[in-house]
Amino acid sequence: MTEVKDLIIIGSGPAGYTAGLYAGRAMLNPTLFAGFASGGQLMLTSDIENFPGYPEGIAGPEMMLELRAQATRFGCDIIDKNVDSVDISERPFKINVGKEVHLAKSLIITTGAEAIWLDAINENIHKGRGISTCATCDGAFFRDKEVIVIGGGDSAMEEATFLTRFCSKVTIVHRREGLRSSQIMTNRARENPKIAWKLNFSIKEWLGSEGNFEGALLVNTGTGVEEKLACDGAFIAIGHKPMTSFLGSQLETDESGYLLWKENTMTSVPGVFAGGDVVDTRYRQAITAASMGCMAAIDVEKWLEDNRH
Ligand code: NAP
Repeated sequence: MTEVKDLIIIGSGPAGYTAGLYAGRAMLNPTLFAGFASGGQLMLTSDIENFPGYPEGIAGPEMMLELRAQATRFGCDIIDKNVDSVDISERPFKINVGKEVHLAKSLIITTGAEAIWLDAINENIHKGRGISTCATCDGAFFRDKEVIVIGGGDSAMEEATFLTRFCSKVTIVHRREGLRSSQIMTNRARENPKIAWKLNFSIKEWLGSEGNFEGALLVNTGTGVEEKLACDGAFIAIGHKPMTSFLGSQLETDESGYLLWKENTMTSVPGVFAGGDVVDTRYRQAITAASMGCMAAIDVEKWLEDNRH
């Protein structure tokens, strides 16, 4: 008969690994499905300088290996496979991984969110080396450089304003005249003398060879006329999407698909908990994700005391 685990964790960013660490130390013997591409968004980040405890900074992939090793040390069983779907209509929950079905009394979902990329020509060769989706992570590498930010929402305004701390010039490229951002964020960007605007432009192609980013080929969305914009880096800020497709519609979400917490870190289904970017529309930092993973593991431990059967 298939073993029923106390806890299965799905997702391997800082939230998942921290949940694994805490649950391991709580003797819950968790299994963590890390996915084929384990490590989450931080695998795309060059250096992390804002995670406390690393005064010299640490490479994103290196930090994820350390978090993974720390969770493993305390008995978290990490499996590098994708979860295809789950059935949480009754307990134990069923977790479908290829042809295998795993059973668990509780679940923590930490599958994160992914930034939406533009998919313009040559984007893949510059990802993480010229083109980023996180100014907080990578802005400091563009000190005294000229960059562009793509998008017209609050994220784009916030990223552009933040980048002016480091960059000599930030140009916001947006595909239409009107902005989607809130008035206060728009005003802050408009009043910033380091911010320039390229409205009614979209990105057709990224310029430069691999490891040598040179800018973008823009196309005027009204006239179709193309022009080159030379810059040292680009930040895409056109939104994020939470990674919840394997859940179907079994859990309550907000209108953008982010999982909702109902009681502490518990979702709308008792026994299913969540943390990190899959619930977080606001902070989206490695340290906040790790914190939520810790919170979820503590909540699971307490919940299992009353609901182990
Ligand atoms: P958003 O509001 O959905 O805005 C996305 C922007 O990207 C839009 O301007 C959109 O253009 C553009 N865009 C989308 N797809 C594109 C594409 N393929 N090519 C070019 N442009 C594209 O997303 P967000 O800015 O990430 O904000 C998400 C939510 O978080 C919002 O509710 C926002 O208020 C909130 N947020 C709040 C704060 C804050 O208060 N501090 C900070 C960040 C985010 P169109 O306008 O033409 O559709």
